[in-house]
Amino acid sequence: MTFAFDNTYAALPDHFYARLAPVPVKLPELVKLNGALAEQLGLDPDALAAPDGVAMLAGNQVPDGADPLAMAYAGHQFGNFVPQLGDGRAILLGEILAPDGERFDIQLKGSGRTPFSRAGDGRAWLGPVLREYIVSEAMSALGIPTTRSLAAVATGEIVYRESPLPGAVLTRVARSHVRIGTFEYFLMRQDIEAIHQLADYVMARHYPDAREDEHPYRALLESVIDRQARLVARWLGVGFIHGVMNTDNMSIAGETIDYGPCAFMDNYHPSRVYSSIDHGGRYAYGNQPRIAQWNLARLAQALLPILDADQDKALAMAQAAVDGFPQRFETAYLEVFRAKLGLSESHPEDGALVTGLLEAMSAADADFTNSFRALCDAALGREQGIRDELRALPALDDWLSRWRARLELESLTAEARAALMRHANPAVIPRNHRVEEALSAAVEGDLGPLDALLDVLASPWEEATETPAFQRPPAPHEVVRQTFCG
Ligand code: AMP
Ligand code: MG
Ligand code: MG
Repeated sequence: MTFAFDNTYAALPDHFYARLAPVPVKLPELVKLNGALAEQLGLDPDALAAPDGVAMLAGNQVPDGADPLAMAYAGHQFGNFVPQLGDGRAILLGEILAPDGERFDIQLKGSGRTPFSRAGDGRAWLGPVLREYIVSEAMSALGIPTTRSLAAVATGEIVYRESPLPGAVLTRVARSHVRIGTFEYFLMRQDIEAIHQLADYVMARHYPDAREDEHPYRALLESVIDRQARLVARWLGVGFIHGVMNTDNMSIAGETIDYGPCAFMDNYHPSRVYSSIDHGGRYAYGNQPRIAQWNLARLAQALLPILDADQDKALAMAQAAVDGFPQRFETAYLEVFRAKLGLSESHPEDGALVTGLLEAMSAADADFTNSFRALCDAALGREQGIRDELRALPALDDWLSRWRARLELESLTAEARAALMRHANPAVIPRNHRVEEALSAAVEGDLGPLDALLDVLASPWEEATETPAFQRPPAPHEVVRQTFCG
């Protein structure tokens, strides 16, 4: 047996999903298998890579114990409510329990049309499938909560976008695929019983402590808000821009989900946008905390009917929980950025110190990742790197002396501090131009650049001494200004 399924979502009422099998593809061919992840999940990589395994990963064979379904959900897309979205090109095969007891969804993305497809073809093409594979695995190596990628399979079919492209299916692994939009789907239908059932399901699966609370649903809401606040703080710490923070792309489990036109920033600017569909900058780097709060307000709204029988009380609870977001975010953000500056204690002026460096970086058009990495050396007294990164900006001198004065307040040795900083400031991120290079080569049948990139991204805290090019920002002709959906 390849997967030992233990399905719980399929046991929820029928109107939570549409039951159907993936649509078979013409000629499945394994492009990438994540052997390390397979082993963590207690799966046999050899069995997955064998023809029967590949047939399952392509959707051509439904594994024993699977209960394939497309999940129903709604969502706010760029602020506009869409009452029915749902899995239009994905099938949840079922859930497995990893050896450590954690439960994971196994989902095929690009698996064909479903009742939720509306206009789309239900398919994905190789570029975005590998993009999600690369970026989600990079995120995981950085220790940031995320869905993962178990496999990418080419379908042998052509997918039509603006041009004919090679089709592919991604096997996505997630703590669950319940989204804010799943709750909104039932609110729209005034299906209060379903909101109860979904909330109970989510608490049992992700937030067991909330069940013990005097007000379990309020505790659930606050727990989701807390996880999202921490998640977005972690994104900002590595210069990540999700690109499509619609409420259907926000996981209730607090994982990064749905890698579309996302990007890691090269040179820092808070208003940076890469997504080709984000014309107004709604999902710009620095807007992400505000948008997360807006999305969480949509969740709070969907939970209103079950928060308290007295709707005035329910509203007050919901409002208080959503109003608590900025404080939770600020705390998480400072925790992330203090570590980046090598600070292990908390002082009132730390926020201003962080802002001061970011402002200098923005003024110097400095590379986000390499500036922070250079600061690790500065902690050991080697300041040339950070001066180079910030193009000898005069304001940097003032900032460095403030930073040094702040470091004096702590007892860490310089070596211990630098070591701490090297685990808060990655040397390697999935730079857009490197990702694009790997995707173009893979689409042409050369997996070499993809493998090399995945290899360095697996150890993001270590210098890529043998392949330093992976640490370099793009040359002017290599700069990627836009990223695209699948
Ligand atoms: P996304 O932008 O990937 O978050 O998708 C938003 C909605 O569009 C979801 O309901 C998807 O299932 C659906 N969708 C995206 N691409 C396709 C496609 N090629 N075929 C059918 N539905 C799709
Ligand atoms: Mg989505
Ligand atoms: Mg998507």
